[in-house]
Amino acid sequence: MKMQKAPFQKNLFEWYQKNHRKLPFRESADPYHIWLSEIMAQQTTMSAVLPYYERFLRWFPSVQSVAEADEDDLLKLWQGLGYYSRVRAFHHACRQVMNEFDGKIPKTSGELKKLKGIGDYTAAAIASICFGEKMAVVDGNVRRVIARLYAFDGNPNTKSTKEFFELKSRQLLNQKNPGDHNQAMMELGAMVCRPKKPLCATCPVHSFCEVRIHDKVPENFPVKIKQDFIDVNYHSLIVRNGEKILLKKPSPDSLIKGMWELPSHYDERKSVDATWKKIFGATCDAGSHKKIGKIRHSITNKKIITHVYESNKPLPKAKGFVYHSWDRLDEIPLNTLSRKILTRFIY
Ligand code: SF4
Repeated sequence: MKMQKAPFQKNLFEWYQKNHRKLPFRESADPYHIWLSEIMAQQTTMSAVLPYYERFLRWFPSVQSVAEADEDDLLKLWQGLGYYSRVRAFHHACRQVMNEFDGKIPKTSGELKKLKGIGDYTAAAIASICFGEKMAVVDGNVRRVIARLYAFDGNPNTKSTKEFFELKSRQLLNQKNPGDHNQAMMELGAMVCRPKKPLCATCPVHSFCEVRIHDKVPENFPVKIKQDFIDVNYHSLIVRNGEKILLKKPSPDSLIKGMWELPSHYDERKSVDATWKKIFGATCDAGSHKKIGKIRHSITNKKIITHVYESNKPLPKAKGFVYHSWDRLDEIPLNTLSRKILTRFIY
């Protein structure tokens, strides 16, 4: 069935005008605000993003302030949001804006994509929302809405499926108001055409929706392919020395690049104790620490089972490790797994 584009756009726009969430970056046309919000919202829920967004803007209100910042300070404010490569790329891109674009964020999607960390989606979002470029955004919410509108059941991992979503989102785009249209499509996916239990009865575009018209189950669209997770064993050690705790500084083998962490290692062929000895030297004897529990944590496609140990005495100094004050842990970017362990077993 051919989509009636104009009435579809009208219903969507009117619904959006009345119902969209009052998010701080929606009140702004500042491309820096939109850029930051889009980068933060990747792989992250809006409720998680909001406090981070507002705090980040208080500390770093402009591209220039980010460009001049230390990476450590940016990571600290990002701590807990995950996917830290986003903030490192954002840092690099802000420096590109200052050095290569005379301090001004580019206005076209083509130029925006020259900045590190900005791909098709983010470029289309900034260019359409801030500068009115006729570019359709395709994020997870938009893909879900389109898959259901067209009852599309293709394999999500193929090039032709990607092209299908791009084509349909382009065809549906309101050329007169691309920014609001894009935001409305994303909002519809987030608020109404939700992954589970979509609100079809009150959906503003239900009369155009093939899933609804043909009485199919919306949750079956788009088709999902189960992701394979790898289970890995990890070992973390809590070592106290008075008011201080032993931490490993960021290094090339850190679990999360650029972040501090508890002394930790993956399973090696050697025994766990032999590996601690390798790290801390022969005086780190097995009798000095005991296992106190385990904790589960997921990072991208890894499910990490972390075995947590506690040492009953301080360990000798080892390269790359320092004793850090308990009450100043907030001043360093400590990875989420270590923070989770300390919260569960110590605080
Ligand atoms: Fe999504 Fe239901 Fe609306 Fe179709 S009718 S677009 S499935 S919320």
